[in-house]
Amino acid sequence: MMATATQVAFQPRELRLLLVEDSLADAELAIAELRRGGFDVCSDVVQNKEELEAHLDRQAYDVVLADYNLPHFRGMETLDVIRAKGLTIPMILVSGALNSITAVECVKQGATDYVLKDHLSRLPLSVRRALEERSLREERTRNQKKLAEKLEELGRSNRDLEQFAYVASHDLQEPLRMVAAYTQLLAERYRGKLDENADKYIAYAVEGAVRMQALVEDLLAFSRVGRNGAVHKPTSSADAVVIALKNLTAAVQESGARVKYGELPQVNGDRTQLVQLFQNLIGNAIKFRGSASPEIEISADAAGAEWIFAVTDNGIGIAPEHRDLIFVIFQRLHTRAEYPGNGVGLPICKRIVEHHGGRIWVESEAGRGSTFRFTLPAVSADKEDGHATRT
Ligand code: ADP
Repeated sequence: MMATATQVAFQPRELRLLLVEDSLADAELAIAELRRGGFDVCSDVVQNKEELEAHLDRQAYDVVLADYNLPHFRGMETLDVIRAKGLTIPMILVSGALNSITAVECVKQGATDYVLKDHLSRLPLSVRRALEERSLREERTRNQKKLAEKLEELGRSNRDLEQFAYVASHDLQEPLRMVAAYTQLLAERYRGKLDENADKYIAYAVEGAVRMQALVEDLLAFSRVGRNGAVHKPTSSADAVVIALKNLTAAVQESGARVKYGELPQVNGDRTQLVQLFQNLIGNAIKFRGSASPEIEISADAAGAEWIFAVTDNGIGIAPEHRDLIFVIFQRLHTRAEYPGNGVGLPICKRIVEHHGGRIWVESEAGRGSTFRFTLPAVSADKEDGHATRT
């Protein structure tokens, strides 16, 4: 029969074996069986705990074979010694007789396998499996470590990018203000004094500068979410909605929007950010209205340790293929002529919700209104006295 790739991979040229065994004859038998099974065995035999510890300190072994019952040492204690040294060497119990319940118990406690002395022919297979398992375990640990390093790297590069976006948008404001101010001055002073083209060009420059200012301001607002200073404490979401609506008075009145909400809960969060969250969502519900005047409903349902909020509108809706795109910064589904905006409102909502440990998503169909849902942490019993956490 042909050997499989795994069999070949786990067949060591040399097997460094440590036997915990008081009978040299039994040790010889086990070694002979392993040699017959294809292992090039290099072994040491110890009979008690002290010798075991000394050998483990001195040498790296691939496998330990331990007799279940030694006169002064229990086979399973071998495992304690191996673990106490922080080692992961597989240990196989070898025993004259071991009832199946005890055997299962030993495996549960960490023995890799057990082999009866009158079935020693099974030993090579058992050792091969133990080595294979160990190698897989080590590979898993290596992969987990690599993944943790990658995550750390990703986190670092994200932080760098955020820092860059913040610094760039912050530092761009001043020169932009100059450009905007002086192009506006040009427009005022020289309108009608140069030729027609000049008026047009100056108007384009003014428009561009003003738009860029708005973009930079929005980018800065986005970068600011979660940059130290947010205080998470029991906060009334109803109050946040009331303030958001107050800030939106003009839009509500002009559109004739009706906003309904029942009882809304206390959540653990930052008040300023929650106001901004509701304001962006309600503002969008008004902005992206259809031909009917906006009907908006805000509600919250308890779900374990969090609340699921819903902001529902009867507006133009969102096609399913755009449900993720709209949360990406500067992504818009319409031209500025159709609906004003920079595509930063929802990304800000997402950042706010995620900084609160929640998720946000939309359920909608084009032309059938939208429901934006997001989760926020409920106030836990130990926070009810008003303890705040800074983020
Ligand atoms: P902006 O409002 O500046 O365009 P947002 O990030 O707030 O940016 O929204 C991104 C896009 O998501 C919008 O351009 C719009 O196409 C879509 N959108 C957001 N809210 C709604 C809504 N309530 N109804 C329909 N479309 C919406």
